Amino acid sequence: MPRPSPQPVCNTAPTERLVCAGCGLLCDDLDPGGLATTRWACPAAARWFTAADNTPAITAIDGVSATPPEALDLAALRLLTARRVLVTGLTAAPMEALQPACQIADLLAAAIDAGGSDTAVPTGPTFARVGEVTAAFEELRDRADLIIFWNCDPAATHPRFIERFVQPARPAGSRRTISLGPHPVMPASASHLHFALTADEALPATRLLQTHIHHHPNDLLEGRLGTIVPQLAAVIDAAECIGIVTSTQADPTGLTAWSLATLVRMLAHRKPAFQIPLGVGIAAGGGNAAGVAASCTWRYGAPGALAAADRQGSLFQPAEADAVRLINRGEVDCVMAIGGLTATIEAALATAAPPPALIHITDVAQSTPAVESVVLATASLARATSGTMLREDGRLISLTPLEPATHPTLEDLLTTLAERLAEHPPAGGAE
Ligand code: SF4
Repeated sequence: MPRPSPQPVCNTAPTERLVCAGCGLLCDDLDPGGLATTRWACPAAARWFTAADNTPAITAIDGVSATPPEALDLAALRLLTARRVLVTGLTAAPMEALQPACQIADLLAAAIDAGGSDTAVPTGPTFARVGEVTAAFEELRDRADLIIFWNCDPAATHPRFIERFVQPARPAGSRRTISLGPHPVMPASASHLHFALTADEALPATRLLQTHIHHHPNDLLEGRLGTIVPQLAAVIDAAECIGIVTSTQADPTGLTAWSLATLVRMLAHRKPAFQIPLGVGIAAGGGNAAGVAASCTWRYGAPGALAAADRQGSLFQPAEADAVRLINRGEVDCVMAIGGLTATIEAALATAAPPPALIHITDVAQSTPAVESVVLATASLARATSGTMLREDGRLISLTPLEPATHPTLEDLLTTLAERLAEHPPAGGAE
């Protein structure tokens, strides 16, 4: 039955709040009553809460319905006999389910990557994050009198970011916003200024602004950037507290992220200034991309693009061992997909020749099932999952299940599978 169009949902008292894990904002101010009346907080939230109802996953082997024990047995067998396994998806899993997922990867010495854009760039995320000066989203909301959107579009990637953290009034007074990029991220107004910038100009603009602020005036300024940079520098000079919102997307080399990190660090030596590095957002497949990155970093030393899971030291290969490249190059013959997948991973799986075997542990059926596949249906990740997730700024958010689980939870299924694999560790896997 067609569903009504998504509409804004009203914020409610803290005791009645519901968390949406449709993207890394992990909005925790949703009205549970909105689900019954389809008053969605944003279109992505509508997709998140209805996906498992519209196309529920069914436990199956090679497209034929199977019992959970049959599917678990075959999943374990295919994982144990695979030449090389990739563990991916993951972003819809709470922190508690990531533990058994990593245990499985350890046992199989599997590659791990959630498929985010930051592990697919040659510099990887850590290069830029060394020395990044960041802050919580609420600090941006409450403190920044100047917010600069640097070649990013939160409305497209994090639908409620502006509503929740930019539009609310600053307690200490007014604020200005500036966007640099292909189009304005907010409606034109006296307090919003937009500078048109192409993707290719993002990096030189960053470097020129830093040079201009440091050596003002400099003789490198010419052309369009020559008029933009001094105006930007003047607004920054007049601000009391600056928040620069950036994105890991649209940065194919990672050098813009590195340049912005050094620019913000320089500004932070002069006045309160910080960066809000937005992640993959709604394209991640789930709201816990930051939790996956943190779990992998604590366990393996890097947030993803891990060639082989090894707690003693894993090889971090950004733009080399990321999920899409491993699938495209045919370097994995079995993919264990946990929860939703990014569109790029789904596309890679759909065109892989030969396709890898797929072990999919999920609540939502995929549009293009693999020829050789085991699907293990889980409880709804949106409505019947408890646990915790990390918001993209690092804040821990607790999930509250809305309804009882009708299938085993993701955590339970992964724990059972990990125990099954541990009984028969493969040769070459971790002890
Ligand atoms: S912005 Fe993201 S977390 Fe917030 S309601 Fe929309 S999809 Fe959910």
